Amino acid sequence: VTPCPPAPPELREQTLVLVKPDAVQRRLVGDVIGRFERRGFKLVAMKLLQVPELQEGRGYVCGYPCIIAPRCHQADRGLLDRHYQHLQQKPFYPALLAYMTSGPLVAMVWEGYNVVRSTRAMVGDTDSAQAAAGTIRGDLSMHVSRNVVHASDSVETALREIGFWFQRDELVAWESGDSQYTYGP
Ligand code: UDP
Repeated sequence: VTPCPPAPPELREQTLVLVKPDAVQRRLVGDVIGRFERRGFKLVAMKLLQVPELQEGRGYVCGYPCIIAPRCHQADRGLLDRHYQHLQQKPFYPALLAYMTSGPLVAMVWEGYNVVRSTRAMVGDTDSAQAAAGTIRGDLSMHVSRNVVHASDSVETALREIGFWFQRDELVAWESGDSQYTYGP
């Protein structure tokens, strides 16, 4: 098989998508992934993990099985604090932390032309009640506090967030053979 030539930089934009714990519980992972795949984006990293929750008097407690057990729990809670740094002063932040640590989530990196903006459009309004039909939140959720997915909101944020959730060597650089069909010559 002849290897495909590397894609030009504009086709290499990347974004972070989280399938949040409510969506994992509700068996919506495949639906979410399927939407990005069918759109034509390329999956370059993916993992299932549970961020440990903070329990009164017990410190950080991970679920079982906990694939991140070998790593420092403080650092993992720190992951959510970094990820949601802009929200730490909001009244809903403790509830958001409880939600995000309530069960496993799926972290993914998707790549492709304009992927950050396109993905945000596919995800829909933060408030699921306002999200348009056809969007992930508009189709699969009803309330802002259980809104199924996260997607980075700018190219700069995406770079930062990918660094929070993935080590460099967890991203797989691969060339897809469908480029001339999805992007043209
Ligand atoms: N959130 C919430 N209540 C609010 C606003 C936000 O629980 O009133 C949660 C919700 O899960 C949202 C997350 O906080 O997805 C991050 O908020 P942000 O404003 O960054 O929205 P997003 O980028 O996720 O659309």
